[in-house]
Amino acid sequence: MNATEYDVIVAGLGAMGSSSLYRLSQRGLRVLGLEAFSAGHRLGSWHGESRVIRMAYYEHPDYVPLLRRAYELWAEVERESGERLLTITGGLMIGAPDSELVVGSLTSARQHGLDHEMLTAAETNRRYPALQLQESEVALWEPRAGFLRPERCVETFVRLAQTAGAEARYDEPVRSWQASPGRVEVTTDVGCYTAPLAVFACGARIARVLGEDAVPVRAERIPLFWMQPSQPDLFALGRFPVYLWEIPDGGHFYGFPHVEWPGVKVARHHTGDFCDADDVDRSVNEADERRLRSAIAERLPAL
Ligand SMILES: Cc1cc2nc3c(=O)[nH]c(=O)nc-3n(C[C@H](O)[C@H](O)[C@H](O)COP(=O)(O)OP(=O)(O)OC[C@H]3O[C@@H](n4cnc5c(N)ncnc54)[C@H](O)[C@@H]3O)c2cc1C
Repeated sequence: MNATEYDVIVAGLGAMGSSSLYRLSQRGLRVLGLEAFSAGHRLGSWHGESRVIRMAYYEHPDYVPLLRRAYELWAEVERESGERLLTITGGLMIGAPDSELVVGSLTSARQHGLDHEMLTAAETNRRYPALQLQESEVALWEPRAGFLRPERCVETFVRLAQTAGAEARYDEPVRSWQASPGRVEVTTDVGCYTAPLAVFACGARIARVLGEDAVPVRAERIPLFWMQPSQPDLFALGRFPVYLWEIPDGGHFYGFPHVEWPGVKVARHHTGDFCDADDVDRSVNEADERRLRSAIAERLPAL
């Protein structure tokens, strides 16, 4: 095997790896990207038509400066690529007034002076008749929320990186690596590559590459649904926002307006169904559908 020298090696070309490849190549560095599967594969975490982006992070106010910067950078990539990646729809964070989602989003919005509006259930249901909040629920409206098109984002990052001189190699998983001061050696079935720095962005499979002690990451199976609405107009892009909804069992589900794929996307945020990313049931079964429908039946009756 020949050792080939780069400035940086990026393992994994999903959401994080493709953007790293792009940013590093923009700095004039000689960058190699190694992806386990083919371009546009659906075996990572980054596919599925849409990803919510929002500013008033309920998770913690410390995320907000990162989000501000992310919006600036998405605008920059759109200008450079000529691609439309981000669509602003506004977003609703729905739940009981004392729910983690509502309290956390409001804390972030207030602490960082973000545009927002608190809506009663009646006001939300009037503005967005597809949603049926209970009287005891409220919604935080965030005008800057929206969604990204993840397949297009990843494809765009890699394309821009390649234009800047980066190399992207597909169907070439990283099998092993070794680090010594100032040098990382990465081995695949095809070759052995070295660089002073490496970025490991292998998503749900990262523990397999770096070791479970180093990064105790577990994969979680999250079925996604594209529902056929009885009143499609209510979910039209331009009329319907992205939303997250905290329900009394403590879980969250979320959804989008109709984008392009047939149906309106909706999913539970977490399932607690931990799995092996390479040995997971990728079909949607009846239990998955029952669970999702129990969350949305009365809340989005048109789905
Ligand atoms: C169902 C679902 C819905 C989500 N919704 C949202 C949302 O609405 N908003 C939001 O902000 N985030 C959302 N996320 C989270 C977001 O998609 C992830 O945070 C993001 O994709 C993680 O990026 P990543 O690069 O770490 O992993 P990935 O995007 O999965 O990329 C990892 C890449 O590494 C490759 N790889 C793995 N092993 C190797 C190896 N040994 N060698 C080379 N390559 C390897 C994989 O094939 C893959 O392409 C969602 C995630 C899921 C699963």
